[in-house]
Amino acid sequence: MKALVYQGPGQKAWADKDKPEIQKPTDVIVKITKTTICGTDLHILKGDVPTVDAGRTLGHEGVGVVEAVGAAVENFKPGDAVLISCVTSCGKCANCKRQLYAHCSDGGWILGHLIDGTQAEYVRIPHGDNSLYPIPDGADEEALVMLSDIMPTGLEIGVQYGNVKPGDTIAIIGAGPVGMSVLLTAQFYSPGRIVMIDMDPARLELAKQFGATDTIQVGADDPVAKILEMTGGLGVDVAIEAVGVPATFDICQKIVSAGGNIANVGVHGAPVQLHIEELWIKNINISMGLVSTNTTPMLLKTLNAGKVNPGKLVTHRFKLDEILEAYEVFGNAAREKAMKVILNA
Ligand code: NAD
Ligand code: ZN
Repeated sequence: MKALVYQGPGQKAWADKDKPEIQKPTDVIVKITKTTICGTDLHILKGDVPTVDAGRTLGHEGVGVVEAVGAAVENFKPGDAVLISCVTSCGKCANCKRQLYAHCSDGGWILGHLIDGTQAEYVRIPHGDNSLYPIPDGADEEALVMLSDIMPTGLEIGVQYGNVKPGDTIAIIGAGPVGMSVLLTAQFYSPGRIVMIDMDPARLELAKQFGATDTIQVGADDPVAKILEMTGGLGVDVAIEAVGVPATFDICQKIVSAGGNIANVGVHGAPVQLHIEELWIKNINISMGLVSTNTTPMLLKTLNAGKVNPGKLVTHRFKLDEILEAYEVFGNAAREKAMKVILNA
């Protein structure tokens, strides 16, 4: 079969690989029908994630059809259409019982990281029963691919950790696929005002279409001064960081109101400054973490009920064997006006 193989920093190939086989009784082999590219794949390709070895198939998002199941798999059979979770988890260990699936003692964040991922014709999913979800009849598969990673990330680490409540004023910094997922899922909790902050005017325009009540363009405006002006000097109830650079975490610390929450979603490659000397007196909660995908069942329900449509994040479509071209587009997202690219097998 063909797979997108990481070949060391800066290098990748659409290469021949052995088709995966059942290794453990809890494994499921899935034939990929749709996959996508994540910002994390770009981080890995740059060499920012040294735990990924050369030879690894990338990708941790996708939908497909079950090809084969191990003897202990109970919930799935060949031919079933499935959504793949970006973390694979046993569902039984101490961390899984706390719903911290990313910290499963026999799994976690391993697809496209420590084991081969979804940017391939076939993928092996460990602990299939707890790491796959049946696809409802007639569901929009492009929308479903957004439930592998970015939508649960936005909901769990941005909105739920940030404790967004009805009527709140919230600010989201970063209008990429993850920030947009925060924007879409925050609306489940009816905040009064959602301010999206980014430097890319095209992404801010899209954010308005997706429900942002206000936007601030970094570069054209000073986000801190603007937020304080908008909130009568109080600041926002929840400041959500969805970029992953020190400057944006810094903005969060300056715009959060007394008693407010800072929810950090971004993955930081460099140390950030934590201004406890200024924050302590404001009674601020700070949270951060790795997505667990424990909200996937809830997201599937809201998707089925038509309450959210993450399919609108898809801007480009390619065939799976055009994946190198898709990486060119996704890797130059601002120039190409790209948000999510779908690869169809
Ligand atoms: P992205 O690069 O596509 O989007 C980032 C956005 O931030 C872009 O629109 C960019 O214009 C904007 N931006 C950059 N610098 C800025 C600045 N100084 N001020 C304002 N805006 C700025 O990234 P993404 O795929 O949306 O992911 C966002 C972050 O979430 C990344 O750090 C990613 O690694 C992280 N992430 C975390 C988890 C988790 O489990 N916590 C899961 C997935 C992704
Ligand atoms: Zn991801």
